[in-house]
Amino acid sequence: MRILFAGSEVTPFSKSGGLADVAQSLPDALHRLGHDVSVITPAHRSVFLTDHPIEPTGIPFDVPIGNKIVSGRLLRARSESGVPTYFVDQPEYFDRAELYREAGRDYDDNCERFTFFCRAVLESARLLGGHFDVVHANDWQCGLIPAYLRLEYAHTRGYESIASIFTIHNMAYQGTFWHWDMLLTGIDWRYFNWKQMEFYGQLNLLKTGLVFADRITTVSRRYAEEICESPLGCGLEGVLQHRKHVLHGILNGVNYDDWNPETDPRLARRYSIDDWASGKAENKRRLQEELGLPTLADVPLIGVIGRLADQKGWDLIADVIGRWASREDAQWVILGTGERAYVDLLGQLAAEYPGRIAARFAFSEPLAHRIEAGADMFLMPSRFEPCGLNQLYSLKYGTVPIVRATGGLADTITDAAPEHLEAGIANGFSFEPYDVASLDETLTRACGVYRTDRPSWRRLVEIGMRQDWSWDESASQYVQLYDEALAAKRVPASV
Ligand code: ADP
Repeated sequence: MRILFAGSEVTPFSKSGGLADVAQSLPDALHRLGHDVSVITPAHRSVFLTDHPIEPTGIPFDVPIGNKIVSGRLLRARSESGVPTYFVDQPEYFDRAELYREAGRDYDDNCERFTFFCRAVLESARLLGGHFDVVHANDWQCGLIPAYLRLEYAHTRGYESIASIFTIHNMAYQGTFWHWDMLLTGIDWRYFNWKQMEFYGQLNLLKTGLVFADRITTVSRRYAEEICESPLGCGLEGVLQHRKHVLHGILNGVNYDDWNPETDPRLARRYSIDDWASGKAENKRRLQEELGLPTLADVPLIGVIGRLADQKGWDLIADVIGRWASREDAQWVILGTGERAYVDLLGQLAAEYPGRIAARFAFSEPLAHRIEAGADMFLMPSRFEPCGLNQLYSLKYGTVPIVRATGGLADTITDAAPEHLEAGIANGFSFEPYDVASLDETLTRACGVYRTDRPSWRRLVEIGMRQDWSWDESASQYVQLYDEALAAKRVPASV
C-alpha cells in the first residue's frame, strides 16, 4: 500500500509536542510492515537547523490561495529508515522562529499558511509520481486535506480512489478562524454551514477534517469515547457522535530506537532491566548535579515534563509542590515551555526552594531523556490526555508514572492497588478526581511504597520496564483501517 502521511511537525525536524514523535515513528512502523510511506511536512526554519542534510527535489508547484497563486517547492531529507520526508518550502509562510505562535500569540496568517500546506500535500500526491492509496492527515493543520480530496479532486485522474484518514491528536486545538478566511480556502460558501465547516460563525478546520474524512482516528480508546461527550468533545461532540461509526481509538506507540535506556546516548550511564537500580542511581546523581540539587540518593526525585498549558494540570502541580516543598523530603525537576503565568509561578517556587525544586523553561530533548532516566517517579496529572507519551517513556526508563486516569493515561497505567500488585499488572499510580487532595494522597502513597516497601517498588519498576508499547500492534491496526477505508471506496464503483 502507498501512503502519504501529512503532519505539521515531524521529529527530528520540528516539534512542539507528541504529534511530531508520532509523525516520525508511525510511518517508520508502517514501512517495517512492508508499506511504501512518504511523510510530508512544512519546511519550518528548524528543519534546516538539524544535522540532517536537506536536498532539493527539483519539484516546484503553484496553488491558488484566495485570489492569488502562491508558489512553493518540495525539498527532501534522506532517511535512514527508508521513509522519505518531503518538505513544503515556502519561506514567507514557514521560515519563522516558531511553528504556530510567538510571544503568546498565534500567527495572524495561520489559516493561510496551513491552507497552502494542505493544497501542497494534494498537489504532491501527483508530483511525487505513482499512485497513493491513502492520505493520512493529522490535526487541524491538515483539516482541509480530506475536504479538498472530496470536493475538488474526487474526479481527478489518480485521486478518485485515494482514501483519507484523519487523526485527532488533541480536540482542544481546532484551528478556528473568522469566516472570511473561507475565501482563502477556495471552497464554495455552501459548505460553510453548521453541519460542515462552520462552527458558531467561524471557519473550523478540525471540524472540516472530521466531516470529510473517510475514517477518523484518535490516539487512545478512552479518548475516543471521551470526545463523543462534553466537555472533552470541546463543542464537536455532536459531529463525533454523528460519525462514531468511522471513529476509532488507536493507541500511540513509542519509538524505542529513540527512547531506550539500554542504548540512549544522552544518559550518564545506560542501563537495562538487569541493572536498573544502580543505573538509575548514577543517572539520578548526575541529574541532581546538573540541576544544582543536593545529591541525595534516598530522597524521591519526581520529574515533570510537558507543555506549560492548562491541559497538563500545572495548577495542581504547582499547588502540591508548594505544599510539599515546605514539609516533605522530595525533589522536583520540571522541564517545560509555554504559558507565561506558569513560568512565573513555577519559577517563583524554584527560587523559594532551590534545594528541592529545579525548573528549566526550555525545550530540550537531551534533558528530557536525562530526566526520564534520573527521576524515580514521573508526574502527569493531566485534565485530559489524548494519549500521552511521557508516561510510556517513563515505563521503559523504570520511572514510575503517577497519572490522572484520563484518556491514554487511563488506558496505559494500572494503579498499584494491592490486588493489581498481586496480579502483577500494576505499573504506576493513578487517581481520578481532578483535585489537589487526590493528587496529594496519591503522591503520599507512591512515596510511601518507595520508602518503605522496596520489593513492591522493584516489582512496579520491572513490570513497567518489561511492557512493550512499541508501534507494532498499533501500526497493524492502522493498516487494517486503511484497508477498510479503501474497500469502502471501491464499493460504489463496483455496483
Ligand atoms: P502533547 O503532545 O500533549 O504535548 P505528549 O505527552 O503526547 O504531549 O508528547 C509530548 C512530547 O513532547 C514528549 O515527547 C515530551 O518529552 C516532549 N516535550 C514536551 N515539552 C518538552 C520540553 N520542554 N523539552 C523537551 N521535550 C518536551
